Amino acid sequence: MQLTDIKNDWISQFNHPLVIAGPCSAESETQMLETAARMKEAGAAVPVFRAGIWKPRTKPNGFEGVGSMGLGWLRKVKQEFGYKTATEVANMHHVQAALEADVDVLWIGARTTVNPFAVQEIANALQGTDRIVLVKNPVNPDLTLWIGALERLAGADIHNLGAIHRGFSTYRKTNYRNIPNWQIALDFKNQLPNIPLIIDPSHICGNRTGLSSVAQEALNLGYQGVMIEAHCNPDEAWSDARQQITPETLASLLSGLVVRNEECAGFDEELERYRTLISDVDYQVIDLLSQRMKLSEKIGMLKSDNNLTVFQPDRWKAVTEYAKRKAEETGMSQEFIESIFKTIHEQSVVVQNDIMKSK
Ligand code: PEP
Ligand code: MN
Repeated sequence: MQLTDIKNDWISQFNHPLVIAGPCSAESETQMLETAARMKEAGAAVPVFRAGIWKPRTKPNGFEGVGSMGLGWLRKVKQEFGYKTATEVANMHHVQAALEADVDVLWIGARTTVNPFAVQEIANALQGTDRIVLVKNPVNPDLTLWIGALERLAGADIHNLGAIHRGFSTYRKTNYRNIPNWQIALDFKNQLPNIPLIIDPSHICGNRTGLSSVAQEALNLGYQGVMIEAHCNPDEAWSDARQQITPETLASLLSGLVVRNEECAGFDEELERYRTLISDVDYQVIDLLSQRMKLSEKIGMLKSDNNLTVFQPDRWKAVTEYAKRKAEETGMSQEFIESIFKTIHEQSVVVQNDIMKSK
């Protein structure tokens, strides 16, 4: 089966947006049942309860999940509260165990999507299933790898497919745990409009602030679902404690989301899409400027240690010449680029002078 031929009407069995919520990891039966019960009591509109049973940890000796024992707790959550259940699978053994435990939604985690051998193994183990299978974006910003994973699943006649946007890792320190890089997700949506796209603000933000604005931004862009981590006692969670929220906070976050009517999309949605892309780029511009200023500080220290002047005309000339050449290559006005670089350079001189003064 070709990925582009898939109809994917599975999503229409859920209210819009589809919400998948629950703890990062299953820790104990009590934690699972309490989280599930409080989500219901708080009135959070959550049809699918998530919990990680096997946890891919970056470093060894961390909490690697409770393993198959937790599948029994997921089953209880389903029986007692009527949720559909969801968990992450990373190899064929996980798949077999999850299918036996009647888990409704299986997802492939970001660290697994990067590995075609693992994805193929999972696809083979799931051959022909009618369970819902969701693929998180790979940790690195590679659209082909993300789509390739879905193609492997479609190739194994798995037709209830979806994608989860959980952000991308960068070496740089940013306000996000994983930067959203909306452009990649929107390219995904353009190429595969038939595959429902779900936002995971928890792993994008890595903390509790910003969850609702990332979720809202995604809904404005026409995403069909949200996956959020919620825990009965977030501060004490065994994994991702900083980003998990209580069931009550989840309920109020969900009720605060503005859900767009897909019918009157069009102009507004397109405008919103461009605005989000512009914020994405602005974010990167500011981040790059801050990196540039940090380098200026380093240069300031070197100059100060070696008794050099801050302003070196030859260097300034080389920088502006280069900027003007790039302006021409990219079709922008030279005056525009020159004036921006003048401002940047002035600030860089200020930064370096401050260093000199402080020495
Ligand atoms: C998770 O959902 O808890 C998880 C491990 O996510 P990711 O694969 O996005 O890191
Ligand atoms: Mn997590």
